[in-house]
Amino acid sequence: MKLICPDCGQVDYAIVNGEVLAESLFEDVWFEVRITKDKIEAKVRDDAKDYFETFNKKHFLKEARKAAYKGEAQCPHCFEFVKVNFQ
Ligand SMILES: [Zn+2]
Repeated sequence: MKLICPDCGQVDYAIVNGEVLAESLFEDVWFEVRITKDKIEAKVRDDAKDYFETFNKKHFLKEARKAAYKGEAQCPHCFEFVKVNFQ
């Protein structure tokens, strides 16, 4: 399983704009998704960690993973939308 950017090719990780998950709550909050052992793992970026503590973390990390599967994660280099390649 790989994360593929149409411009950069395979990328180590992708970023999900928090606004995709909850527009008003997560303005300027970014999540990082990466593939670990053929699964997508998500975490919130360090700069938003404290803010994120007050939310249902499990729920929103799951939503971030879902967003990545749906092709809503972006390349950290060029911000194109990244596809999940299941091969
Ligand atoms: Zn890219």
